Amino acid sequence: MIEKRVSVPFHLADIGDREIEAVVETLKSGWLTTGSRARQFETEFAAYIGAAHGVALNSATAGLHLALEAAGVREGDEVIVPTMTFAASAEVVAYLRAKPVLVDCDPDTLTVRAEDIAPAIGPRTKAIMPVHYGGHPCEMDPILELAKTHKLAVIEDAAHALPAAYRGRRIGTIGDLTVFSFYATKTLTTGEGGMVTTDDPQFADRMRLMSLHGISRHAWNRYSAEGSWRYEILAAGFKYNLTDIAAALGLAQLRRVDEMASARRRVATAYNCAFSSVPELQVPVRHADVEHAWHLYPIRLRLERLRIGRDAFIEGLKEQGIGTSVHFIPLHLHPYYREASDHRADAFPVATEEFGRLISLPIYPAMTDHDIERVTGAVIELATVHRR
Ligand SMILES: *Cc1c(COP(=O)(O)O)cnc(C)c1O
Repeated sequence: MIEKRVSVPFHLADIGDREIEAVVETLKSGWLTTGSRARQFETEFAAYIGAAHGVALNSATAGLHLALEAAGVREGDEVIVPTMTFAASAEVVAYLRAKPVLVDCDPDTLTVRAEDIAPAIGPRTKAIMPVHYGGHPCEMDPILELAKTHKLAVIEDAAHALPAAYRGRRIGTIGDLTVFSFYATKTLTTGEGGMVTTDDPQFADRMRLMSLHGISRHAWNRYSAEGSWRYEILAAGFKYNLTDIAAALGLAQLRRVDEMASARRRVATAYNCAFSSVPELQVPVRHADVEHAWHLYPIRLRLERLRIGRDAFIEGLKEQGIGTSVHFIPLHLHPYYREASDHRADAFPVATEEFGRLISLPIYPAMTDHDIERVTGAVIELATVHRR
């Protein structure tokens, strides 16, 4: 009898009974939108990270937007963003009528380096947005030094980097503002959601204000017993608040964040073990001085050793029931950024080249040994069969 091959999806959210109970309890409480649970989530998340403030929002995209706004990015300014990232990192710059200036990345970790950023700094540069690609922290010390020299704000896109650390410092405590994502596929999820951490109370206050219509502080409390009906609009704000339903889910997930991280690490270690001796494959590089969140496990194909390309490899895995993805199609290859930026066609050689051989494999806490073996077996078989 042939063993029935169960498919391994690219991602499955890790939602336990505690999360379900917390959400049900919130639904029964009668208070659904932003309230005490969102405030508690902010406090506990900031404490976990070791930052002075946490501002909970309905997405990381909202967080990046408000972080840039709080840092003073305005019309005509420039913000340096790596091309190897998701749409959100650059689009938020455009929300403020500023210009995202794309830069290349490190061929080893695919994170942005000071040497990629430095040539892009000009008189209108206002901020730098390092993206901790896949959960591997960027080499932050030289980036911070550059920022200090040129008086630039550092806003970290840490959508992949919970929990992660750079030289013993937790991601979320390094730059001026750090933005985490709780999107469905991220390492902690609230369905949709995000959090900005900062040590600067003025940044935190500004983001709180702008996250809820620019209405004066504690306005969320205005319908409760202590609240008053009176409020003041201080700015034309946005509608970015996180619901208590989502926050309840987030609080329950936060209790398991280390446990989920070690489960991911286990998958990464098993993959590294299985793949490092396969000459057609390049396993992810991890620097010795970082704690890696392993949000992604991107392998790279050594195309010169294979008779098939990346796309066919992905098709082959799909036929075997293995879900994959590609992180990312670099921004400069998308029609909008091709037209909106004035970069040369060969301006991002590393990102362009690496994109062509990247495949993100499934990595999440719920993966069983059998799931892992299914993935490693299928990948190694394809590499062997199509060996040049
Ligand atoms: C997921 C992601 C975001 C956006 O997160 P949302 O919470 O969905 O807004 C931003 N940057 C990167 C690199 C991401 O992967």
